[in-house]
Amino acid sequence: MTALGGHLSAHNPLSSPQCAPAPLHHRGVSVRIGIHPVLEALRARSPLNRVLIARGASGPRLQEIIDLCRELSVPVRFEPRGALDRIAGASTHQGVVALGAPRQLAELDDLPAGACLVILDGIEDPHNLGAIIRTAHAAGADAVGANCGNGIDGYIPICRRLRAATDRPLWLKANAGLPEIVDGRPVYRTSPEYFAARTLDLVKAGVTFVGGCCGTTPAFITAIKQALQAAKRG
Ligand SMILES: [Zn+2]
Repeated sequence: MTALGGHLSAHNPLSSPQCAPAPLHHRGVSVRIGIHPVLEALRARSPLNRVLIARGASGPRLQEIIDLCRELSVPVRFEPRGALDRIAGASTHQGVVALGAPRQLAELDDLPAGACLVILDGIEDPHNLGAIIRTAHAAGADAVGANCGNGIDGYIPICRRLRAATDRPLWLKANAGLPEIVDGRPVYRTSPEYFAARTLDLVKAGVTFVGGCCGTTPAFITAIKQALQAAKRG
């Protein structure tokens, strides 16, 4: 069985120091990008921390946003356009971005009784990783997973290592390559087609659940699905 999935917020045990800072949405902050989404959020009285408007941007709909913010006591800040570009990533922001209140994260006490969770970060010695996974396995872990911090090529040897350490289902979500910082923004160079082709190698290496983390988009998940279906048909 191989399943598909999108973003997840945990970070990979073999995370790479070259990785860009996590996007805001990965840090639990909801972001509305563009005039319509920001207006909707204001009209719906969604909890917003602040609204950022690109310096020099103007127009009746931006003015409507500013007026609504005043009415609702949402702070408005005028920022250089580059700051909004960084937050919006590939999306078109039309000179406005709203940052929501951080999402309420679950407390460990909210987990079902008896749930066992082992979260690793910054593990550098693969022997330690193997030992921890074997111990988690012996303690009854239902699955073992890793995401973020590496591209799909980097995840194939990680998958083999994890597979050697456990026969539990393996769950892996790679980034669309390691980001290059261009004009202060992370740029991911891996294409959905390449990602999908390499996912077949991940399947050979023993993965059970696959998906994508930073830099991947719904096009990646579609390409993975098509590649897996084509491989199944032989
Ligand atoms: Zn990520």
